[in-house]
Amino acid sequence: MISFDFDYYKANNAKEAYNKYIELENKNKDVFYYNGGTELVTYARKGKINFDALIDINNIPACREHKINGEKIILGASLNLNQITEKNYFPLLSKSVQVIADHTTRNQITLGGNLTGRLPYKEALLPLLVTDAKITTIGKDGFKTRKITDLFDKRLKLNKGELLLQIIVRKDKADLPYYQDRKVKQSDIDYPIIHIAAIKENDDIKVAFSSLSAFPFRNNKIDKIMGNKDLDNEQKITKIKDNLPGAINSNQRAGKEYKEMLFDSTIRDCLECLRGAN
Ligand SMILES: Cc1cc2nc3c(=O)[nH]c(=O)nc-3n(C[C@H](O)[C@H](O)[C@H](O)COP(=O)(O)OP(=O)(O)OC[C@H]3O[C@@H](n4cnc5c(N)ncnc54)[C@H](O)[C@@H]3O)c2cc1C
Repeated sequence: MISFDFDYYKANNAKEAYNKYIELENKNKDVFYYNGGTELVTYARKGKINFDALIDINNIPACREHKINGEKIILGASLNLNQITEKNYFPLLSKSVQVIADHTTRNQITLGGNLTGRLPYKEALLPLLVTDAKITTIGKDGFKTRKITDLFDKRLKLNKGELLLQIIVRKDKADLPYYQDRKVKQSDIDYPIIHIAAIKENDDIKVAFSSLSAFPFRNNKIDKIMGNKDLDNEQKITKIKDNLPGAINSNQRAGKEYKEMLFDSTIRDCLECLRGAN
């Protein structure tokens, strides 16, 4: 049960949602967009979060779009993770999200919620980073479409009240050879110890990580090392570790040394798997 009262609004389009957010904020209300609601409801029940109002964005047509438009795949921010896997327009994204939580919860967790929520894993982000996906938002400067790699630094840097509407992926990038692996401690639905997603584009390998350190990341230096033909696999692993943007950390699921060992073997596996791929 949520032990406090709050107002609930359902927006029918992006402008209505954003304007309502600003109107409530100007009245000093604590307001959140409501997408799948799994995080908001869990935190509210546990008393970890409090709000005066929620703005449900599930009726916004842009947030529900799920289609191929010419050379682009359009993914609305309110699609749930199972919908993404079922249509499977982007196989690497499907693989990366079908390991999050259990099937029932994936009917609820949305793509937009996974990218903007508080939990650090954000496993749906990795395929978007490696394919240089773009995101469309509405905020104080109206509608904007920008590269996700320019906006993500430890978290998605949205302005206050800025609403994520869509994710756009180039179809040719979504069809490239890929590698994906996720290590867990116990069951498949546990949080990851390490999650890696990579694509091969010509001779380049683009790779992103979650759960290795405190935040997910893709890093240009690491991409270059992965594709460097003058280095063998072991040299690459050593160099990558020297260039990580955040230290490999321990958490409840694994110690630092164990994570490092998994990291080494996953990188070896990734390089072998993508070696002949084209
Ligand atoms: C049981 C369970 C297991 C999980 N396991 C994993 C896991 O293994 N890996 C993993 O990566 N994640 C995992 N998660 C985390 C989950 O992906 C996030 O909690 C996510 O935020 C839930 O999405 P939602 O749509 O329910 O978000 P909501 O609860 O609706 O919203 C979460 C936050 O994001 C904001 N938000 C949502 N959509 C938008 C938008 N379009 N624009 C701007 N802000 C927005 C909301 O305002 C709110 O602050 C798990 C969650 C649960 C409940």
